[in-house]
Amino acid sequence: MRKIKNFVNGKFLEPEGEGKYEIYNPAEGKVIATVPEARREDIDDAVDKAWEAQLKWSKVPITDRIKFLFKLENIMWDEIDDLAKVTTMEHGKTVEESKGDIIRAIQNVESAAAATYHIMGENNRNIARDVDEELIRVPLGVFGIISPFNFPVMIPFWFIPYAIAMGNTVVVKPSEKTPMSMERSMEMIKKSGIPDGVVQLVNGGGEAVNFMLENKKISGISFVGSTPVAKYVYEKGVSYGKRVQAGASAKNFVMVMPDADLDSNMSNMIGSFFGNAGERCLAGSVLVTLPENHDMVIRKFEEAAKKLKVGNGLESGTDMGPLIRKDHMERVKEYIASAEKEGGKIILDGREIDMKGKEGFFLGPTIIDSVLPSMKVAKEEIFGPVASVMTANDFDEAIDIINSSRYGNASTIYTTSGHYAREYTERVQAGNIGINIGVAAPIAFYPFSGFKESFFGDLHPQGGKDHILFFTERKVIISKW
Ligand code: NAD
Repeated sequence: MRKIKNFVNGKFLEPEGEGKYEIYNPAEGKVIATVPEARREDIDDAVDKAWEAQLKWSKVPITDRIKFLFKLENIMWDEIDDLAKVTTMEHGKTVEESKGDIIRAIQNVESAAAATYHIMGENNRNIARDVDEELIRVPLGVFGIISPFNFPVMIPFWFIPYAIAMGNTVVVKPSEKTPMSMERSMEMIKKSGIPDGVVQLVNGGGEAVNFMLENKKISGISFVGSTPVAKYVYEKGVSYGKRVQAGASAKNFVMVMPDADLDSNMSNMIGSFFGNAGERCLAGSVLVTLPENHDMVIRKFEEAAKKLKVGNGLESGTDMGPLIRKDHMERVKEYIASAEKEGGKIILDGREIDMKGKEGFFLGPTIIDSVLPSMKVAKEEIFGPVASVMTANDFDEAIDIINSSRYGNASTIYTTSGHYAREYTERVQAGNIGINIGVAAPIAFYPFSGFKESFFGDLHPQGGKDHILFFTERKVIISKW
């Protein structure tokens, strides 16, 4: 069985050891490759090489550093079809969704090319007689990037281009469930001419993460994953003196007001709950209605959900692919069963989908009505194609329900009322708010926000000013001549 390679100092290396983790094609339920756990010496070696490379890379003028990003961007466009197939093969999402994942990555490469402006310093002359003061932004050294399984290209690229544009080097550790997309991306990094050692790839799971956290030459960690791991990585990273930004789990509420334009927004709403098979940190999870529009919303939502074609993401015409693993699929089914037990009404049952003998980890779109805030499906992240429907008595009660969540990643309101839209943005405690936008995904040059237990740290992922601050240190120079 093929083992996923590491990429260190410009070379693809066959890792030592057995393939500890199996990579599946989730649409076929078959193992297609394996991932060994990186040993401490593998991580240390990759970091040492990144450290050496950083000394030279930070001396390359920023105007030349960003030229590599322009080259990389063109290569990514040229090879998008091939990379999308790799992503679909290991993740299960449709090829169109994989392309969306890659396009978001490319937008971050483009956005990082604005580093020439962002890195500019500040100065004042004569802060005292004949004394000048200036602030310059300097790179920190080596950053670790640790990503989840669900956006195997976009999420590492939330960080790579900005970190390197600022003069740092990076060691990337993708999810052990979907590492092939990054392995393929390293071929593009190589082709772009980015010097050896600037971007390194190591593989493994939790042990590899610990070796990264404990490595003293890593200055900072950009992490995205589930809340318990994000909290652990944040606390341990900080205790080792690193700066850490850690994106985490979500439970996103989508409110539909009686004045919403349902017909023109329905496909957008369906995409929010069932796109990427619900394995998206911005996915709608709880649909909140009011008594006066509940029946109509459910009827139209069910009608649209029933039309989704579930199947192999590589086949054209597929709207929704499988879940990532069999055990994950079983866990999602358990959530549906728990809702039934707690009094929820299953309006559309994805467990009954007939896949005509296909072996993949398929679950159809599921809609559960009469969900109460106390129920498990209302509180926990399910990460699957399940919509829980709640009915609030009025707008104020809806806001209270939404804000009672321990998470605060995203939330959306569908309305034609400026008043309610504005109130929603003011009162909902979530980092990414959509108004008639079901997946409130910030464009590359805005930070990807997140509140409460959906984010640990101060400076958020993606572009904008947060990344300039995260990937540089400020040095202040005071001079008198
Ligand atoms: P995960 O937490 O299982 O894994 C994330 C990373 O942590 C992986 O690289 C993994 O190898 C590593 N890891 C796993 N267990 C570890 C441990 N015990 N110690 C140290 N490292 C460990 O997450 P996942 O299942 O791959 O991804 C799904 C989760 O990510 C969901 O909760 C989703 O909401 C979240 N997510 C959040 C965002 C965001 O921006 N907030 C974006 C995408 C996904």
